[in-house]
Amino acid sequence: MGAFPGTYVLVPARFAQVGRSAAIRARCGVSRFTGRVVFSTDGWATCALGHKHWGRAGAAGLFLHRDGAGGPEVLLQHRALWSHHGGTWGTPGGALHARELPHVGALREVREELGLTADDVVLGPRSVDDHGGWAYTTVLARPARPIEVRDLRLDGESDGAAWLPLAELHAVPLHPGLAASLDRLRPLIAAPKEAADTRE
Ligand SMILES: [Zn+2]
Repeated sequence: MGAFPGTYVLVPARFAQVGRSAAIRARCGVSRFTGRVVFSTDGWATCALGHKHWGRAGAAGLFLHRDGAGGPEVLLQHRALWSHHGGTWGTPGGALHARELPHVGALREVREELGLTADDVVLGPRSVDDHGGWAYTTVLARPARPIEVRDLRLDGESDGAAWLPLAELHAVPLHPGLAASLDRLRPLIAAPKEAADTRE
């Protein structure tokens, strides 16, 4: 049986333009535009060294250090077992948002993960671990006031936090990224305050 010839072209002229744009919208999956476009940077990135890293725009963390009785101490979090490299000690931090400056992202993550704000710390030098196509920026900082672990508000990404003596980090399971960065970070801990870069 033949179809009715011309069925598919019998579109009244005054509806033709509307019909076509509606069809294009339907084909492209485009619905009415209602707001700002947010490009998510969540997701895995593969760097030039072949690692898989979380955060397509790179990541940043805060290396908060203080002078302890036996030398420098650093505030690390014990990563929850479900997380990437769970069970290791690492700097609080995480994936950067699109066009977010590393120190801004590090402070945002520290607020989320430990409950510390920008007023609680004094930012110092930064160290970039660039893997090619992905980089981790470590932002050094000192406490602006005494910060004790019991004052922190941990979220679900860590199950503990501690001030650990820098000289004894070899004795705990360290996040591999932090372990690889330590030799670069140690000299920066002693950097004079004038070296601090606190640009917004
Ligand atoms: Zn890598």
